[in-house]
Amino acid sequence: MSVNIVFLGPPGVGKGTQAHLLAKSLGIHHLATGDLFREEIKNQTELGRKAKNYLDQGVLVSDEVTVAMVRERLQGDQYQKGVILDGFPRNRDQAAALDGILAQRGNALRAVLFVKASPQVIIERLSGRRVCRAAGHNYHLLYSPPRVEGKCDIDGSELYQRDDDRPEVIARRIEVYRESTSPLIEHYRQRGLLVEIDGEQPIPVVQEKILEALAISVNDFPKVQV
Ligand code: AMP
Repeated sequence: MSVNIVFLGPPGVGKGTQAHLLAKSLGIHHLATGDLFREEIKNQTELGRKAKNYLDQGVLVSDEVTVAMVRERLQGDQYQKGVILDGFPRNRDQAAALDGILAQRGNALRAVLFVKASPQVIIERLSGRRVCRAAGHNYHLLYSPPRVEGKCDIDGSELYQRDDDRPEVIARRIEVYRESTSPLIEHYRQRGLLVEIDGEQPIPVVQEKILEALAISVNDFPKVQV
């Protein structure tokens, strides 16, 4: 039985950071569709070429392209124990596609972690976010600054501001979230999968709440079979 968990929430709420930490705690890989698209764009692949305009404008890449990419990636051996999904699904059709992909493997979603924060907090987090060129490690100018300004602590590569974290695009991304993605909150609540998490707390507190909510405390985690 594999453990499949979705992170849901507005852009900039800290899903990426928490998905990364949870993946480490559970020993399960995480998959972030935004990171995959950015990687494809950086490598100038055909898929990257298709996705670039959508990312630049802060709108969703087509479901067809996105679902095909996720389906293909999830076939990798590293996801056989399950996956922590960040940024997918982002609308009802993607949610249905995800059910289908998991069902084909005899699996289902275990939980949907809905991370919440007020619009002010989200805008502050997005505008202070910096990302490393080499591997996409996340920083924040105020809340988790790098040890050396402008350089990633982990691989030393340059930190940059995502194009879509600029104010003009942020507004569009929040609008897209409201229209397309937020209906999934009710969808998953009705299915009894939704776990609400206060994303305004500091990173370690949110992490702890998530582990608690999943009924896995940090201390007894090694004994838990996932
Ligand atoms: P993120 O890093 O999750 O904020 O995603 C950055 C951008 O990648 C989004 O604004 C979309 O253009 C695209 N993207 C990421 N995930 C998806 C998805 N599930 N469906 C469609 N587009 C996506």
